[in-house]
Amino acid sequence: MLQPVPPATRQDQLSYITGHADSPWLTYLAQVDRVVPYLGPLARWAETLRRPKRALIVDVPIEMDDGTVRHFEGFRVQHNLSRGPGKGGVRYHPQVTLEEVMALAAWMTVKNAAVGLPYGGAKGGIRVDPTQLSHKELERMTRRYTSEIGIVIGPQQDIPAPDVNTNPQIMAWMMDTYSMNIGGTATGVVTGKPIQLGGSLGRVKATGRGVFEVGREAARRIGLPVQGARIAVQGFGNVGGVAAELFAEAGAKVVAVQDHTGGLYKGDGLDVVRLSAHVREHHGVAGFQDAEVLGGDDFWGVDCDILIPAALEGQLTEARARRTKAKMVLEGANGPTLPAADDVFNDRGILVVPDVICNAGGVTVSYFEWVQDFSSFFWSEDEINARLERILVGAFVAIWETAERLKVPLRTAAFVVACERVLQARAERGLYP
Ligand code: NAD
Repeated sequence: MLQPVPPATRQDQLSYITGHADSPWLTYLAQVDRVVPYLGPLARWAETLRRPKRALIVDVPIEMDDGTVRHFEGFRVQHNLSRGPGKGGVRYHPQVTLEEVMALAAWMTVKNAAVGLPYGGAKGGIRVDPTQLSHKELERMTRRYTSEIGIVIGPQQDIPAPDVNTNPQIMAWMMDTYSMNIGGTATGVVTGKPIQLGGSLGRVKATGRGVFEVGREAARRIGLPVQGARIAVQGFGNVGGVAAELFAEAGAKVVAVQDHTGGLYKGDGLDVVRLSAHVREHHGVAGFQDAEVLGGDDFWGVDCDILIPAALEGQLTEARARRTKAKMVLEGANGPTLPAADDVFNDRGILVVPDVICNAGGVTVSYFEWVQDFSSFFWSEDEINARLERILVGAFVAIWETAERLKVPLRTAAFVVACERVLQARAERGLYP
């Protein structure tokens, strides 16, 4: 069993990494360690994967509605730009740290390469609880943050997008601020924008749709019928909510959900459409009437066929992996599974469809949005969904075949496919100077 290597024993460890036990950066490093033996001569460049190219920490001071001034800590990390401009979301969350943003940026490098999108990997975040800010405070914070990271972002440099607690309105403010600063309208600087500002049809639902499309193909390959499948979803936001809706439409039963407000269980399937309306109104699943309340950790032991972690990283610990009754895990969230849990899933024969392919629908349609912005020519939603399915399922099948050929889990296979592409680009570009 391969555990994350404690920082003190890593000669290559970066000095500013705290290395706490469930550090997502250490999870990422452990995933890289697993792939290096398969990289052949490209392993020479593997150290490139273990450090971010650039990490920017910014101070974000804003005037609050009551006249006081508050400072927030913001980040933008560009993990790797060998294959193209940086691409990755911006997260607003009280627990955001540099280490977390580094890991999320690195997973974007792997994800973009695994799918074959012409991007490097980047991510951003602000350490803030956005629910404590007024609409105007949120706008001021977003604009100041955008201005501060303006030295590293741009349509050809690094293109942010929504992530946890950020949305099309926030992308509109980011696009406007960047545009004001350069004296022109640069729609291609962010994706996930509102439609009238150069956004793409299908973007809002793209990540959840991708989880569904890839999940359906994976289910087919292990002989699990989606019709009647029992689903448990953690996180009922942009990713988990949409994935749940599409699985329910396809005849699956969403039996359990959990979010930051609580958990719900209904053996014959929750009414997902009504639950979505409830979450929009009450900002959480708590208080939904037509279900039993599911306490704390009980969520992980519910009787289900498919488990979809779609909240935050590090949720699937070794103990939770031992408890689950699922036959398949679809990683809607980024980095939800700790390396020790990965080993448990492998030993138990539970298929894990890794984040870097499973939730890549969002960045794939972001790529479509960026292309549409450059050509100022917009596609229909059917066209977008058809291209999304073709690219994502095609990438999944290639990873599946690599896993069979090398006899490794899907995550290692996805990393092999992606890291070969990244390091090949690295090798061909060569070192400057
Ligand atoms: P969101 O803000 O729309 O929803 C987040 C959900 O997680 C909410 O339901 C929230 O209640 C829940 N949550 C937060 N903390 C929790 C906790 N401690 N326990 C249980 N639930 C908790 O965010 P999202 O866009 O759906 O993102 C969810 C995950 O998917 C993140 O890991 C994100 O990085 C990843 N992701 C998002 C996209 C995208 O396009 N939005 C793309 C790829 C990956």
